[in-house]
Amino acid sequence: MPTETVYGLACDAGNPEAVRKVFAAKGRPADNPLIVHIQDIAEWQPLVTEIPPLAMRLAERFWPGPLTIILPRSERIPSITAGGLDTVGVRFPAHPVAQAMIRAAGIPLAAPSGNRSGSPSPTTSAHMLADMDGRIPAIVEGGACICGVESTVIALDDGQTVRVLRPGFVTPEHLQTVAENVIVDSAVLAQVTADTVVRSPGMKYKHYAPNAAVTLVQGSAEEFLHFMADRQGEGICALVFDSDMPACEKAGLRAIPYGDTDEARAASVFAMLRQLDALGIRHVYIRAPRTDGVGLAVYNRLIRAAGYDIIHA
Ligand code: AMP
Ligand code: MG
Repeated sequence: MPTETVYGLACDAGNPEAVRKVFAAKGRPADNPLIVHIQDIAEWQPLVTEIPPLAMRLAERFWPGPLTIILPRSERIPSITAGGLDTVGVRFPAHPVAQAMIRAAGIPLAAPSGNRSGSPSPTTSAHMLADMDGRIPAIVEGGACICGVESTVIALDDGQTVRVLRPGFVTPEHLQTVAENVIVDSAVLAQVTADTVVRSPGMKYKHYAPNAAVTLVQGSAEEFLHFMADRQGEGICALVFDSDMPACEKAGLRAIPYGDTDEARAASVFAMLRQLDALGIRHVYIRAPRTDGVGLAVYNRLIRAAGYDIIHA
């Protein structure tokens, strides 16, 4: 199923057997919950025990759109869909094809990102085919995804406080226009290991990784170029901002641009990570984005793709 964030692997959220098949197709760990997709705010209430006023204000402001809101689940959501948790993340996607599919199904659709577990999320139907050919019955063509990173996932700490568990296109700055307090969970920017208890289970798994080794490099364009000067050679490549390209070319550095704004980098980052393997790259050095606005979402995905190999140039 295409959505505005990434392609999802959709099934009946209330059918444990269907959900089991989605976990199997992805090779997804059983404790990593699926997000449930609706196409009308009115479909939310039956899925949760209660909708607090702050949650409703957030939904009214940001839905349809790339925001997932976690609340205690009702008995309509089976335990397997929730990864064994007593909560459920719900989202109302903005993509017209996703909306049409949920409407046609007549039921909420559970849909994790459509990649094999551990791979970069799919942002085109070609990525879906690469990961899922022979494993699922069909892929619905919806063109390239506009956001390119998965939804912002939030939980409510209390009636005034929003906790960002996974950053996305709905940024902390956006959330602050509705909620008094917005906290970015420490797992967003830090390394989380497999045995850590985290609020958002997806945070602890190695994610988004190509076969190539990935190093994330922080610093200015100048510092990055200087850092790369003695790191050139066979199978080595830099992933840089568009505006870095002239200097890279001048320095004879093999470089690929991944956008000049945070939004552009978000839209292309997973496709770029997939492309590296096709190009036979063995080690990629990525110029890190800033960590404000949508940049936080890109940075969060890149530190996981890099297995937390982060260097300051
Ligand atoms: P994906 O569907 O692949 O985008 O992954 C969804 C992510 O959302 C998971 O990896 C979790 O980290 C997070 N998530 C979904 N539902 C919940 C929930 N009920 N509680 C905490 N995190 C959730
Ligand atoms: Mg995913």
